[in-house]
Amino acid sequence: MDNIDARKKNIVILGAGFGGITAALALAKKQCAISREYNIILVDRHRHQLYTPALYEIASIPRENAADASLKSAILIPIADITAKKPIQHLCDDVIGLDRNGKKIILKNAELPYEFLVSALGSETNYFNIPGLKEESFPLKTFDDAVRLRNKIEDWVREKDAVKIVVGGAGASGVELVAEFVNFVCDIQKKIDLNSHCKIELLLIESSPDILPGFDEWAVSKTKKRLAKLGVRIKTNATIVSVRNQELDFADGNKESFDILIWAGGVQGPAALERFELTRSKKGALVIDEYLRAGNPEERIFAIGDNSSLINPKTGKPLMWNVPVAEAEGRLVAKNIIREIRGKPLKKFIPLKKYPFILAVGKKYAIADFVIIRIAGRLGWCLKQLVELRYFLFILPLFQAIKTWLVCVRLYASND
Ligand SMILES: Cc1cc2nc3c(=O)[nH]c(=O)nc-3n(C[C@H](O)[C@H](O)[C@H](O)COP(=O)(O)OP(=O)(O)OC[C@H]3O[C@@H](n4cnc5c(N)ncnc54)[C@H](O)[C@@H]3O)c2cc1C
Repeated sequence: MDNIDARKKNIVILGAGFGGITAALALAKKQCAISREYNIILVDRHRHQLYTPALYEIASIPRENAADASLKSAILIPIADITAKKPIQHLCDDVIGLDRNGKKIILKNAELPYEFLVSALGSETNYFNIPGLKEESFPLKTFDDAVRLRNKIEDWVREKDAVKIVVGGAGASGVELVAEFVNFVCDIQKKIDLNSHCKIELLLIESSPDILPGFDEWAVSKTKKRLAKLGVRIKTNATIVSVRNQELDFADGNKESFDILIWAGGVQGPAALERFELTRSKKGALVIDEYLRAGNPEERIFAIGDNSSLINPKTGKPLMWNVPVAEAEGRLVAKNIIREIRGKPLKKFIPLKKYPFILAVGKKYAIADFVIIRIAGRLGWCLKQLVELRYFLFILPLFQAIKTWLVCVRLYASND
């Protein structure tokens, strides 16, 4: 707190993820409009940003191929590097509550007054209170989760003859993860015994009628074909009701055993939001209006990205939680804060009917839908790497962006 100019008012952004960083950088660009009156403060419990779209890679790179330090340098981007030479102050602390009347954010180690507040705290794993699920499964939300999972699979495969891996939740991250394991496990088994056949059973479970809920028919059918080719079994309409002794119980009475269970079946708003005393959706996210405001307009509290809930008028459904939405909302929230400072009316968030996506489905294969063009195969995989480069160029100085990206490409290409 020492380096924060107490004479100025604060624009406080909670969370240095995709939404928070986009908002902070967009505000910093308008530096001259606000710097005399406002500090831009970015609060996060970590000193780095996690590049989640490549997390499945980290969970499937054998220990001997890359040291953890090298994995970290690929996927954890230091916030200090992002904010360097920019009028943004990073405060490393845990958000634990909000004092709306006092216009203060409550951190673990301090209280921080704000004039404008942007909540961009992302999401956390939702276990839906299913008995045994949290205790018996591995989540995939953080770098440590990915490393823990990789170690567990690798140790299992080195000790035992075969492995049955079950992934609960066939959304984008469940699909990317399950597809990556074929290569990972078979390579380790081959290293142990050159003549061995790959002994892996992969099962992807989804409670909805089909995989990739919310994705269109083209993506679903391409993905299913690819997963079938990789030998992944899919079980849909399958609702897990409990997990006990490495066995799943389903609502229809069926059971399924597993050696390793990964839970990618749901996320919810972060626990800290419970103490914000603002209206939350069923998934625990802050309900926002079309200007991205939570609470009363005069309170100047905004929410963006995964920790917010906004109905897309074009589809009648809540906006999906993904990077393009978090970034678009981050850009608009910065614009609206500047407009409010200048006394101008705020702009509405106009969601696209469809957002672009790239889904990696094992080895160097990805399905890419850029709305006007669709690609599946190796070219899709290359485009995924270019999207990563675009992001690094957006947040980091040129040389560092290219250097970080090259580390990633080298790591992922050698693994895929
Ligand atoms: C494995 C995985 C793969 C994914 N792949 C893709 C993909 O390929 N494409 C895509 O579009 N989306 C993908 N997503 C979704 C994407 O990561 C999110 O939609 C996106 O990160 C949302 O951005 P955000 O800014 O809302 O939150 P985040 O990027 O999650 O950032 C939230 C930040 O808040 C911080 N924070 C949280 N709580 C606190 C607290 N109490 N105190 C202080 N700091 C706190 C966190 O440390 C974090 O830095 C993936 C997600 C996962 C988990």
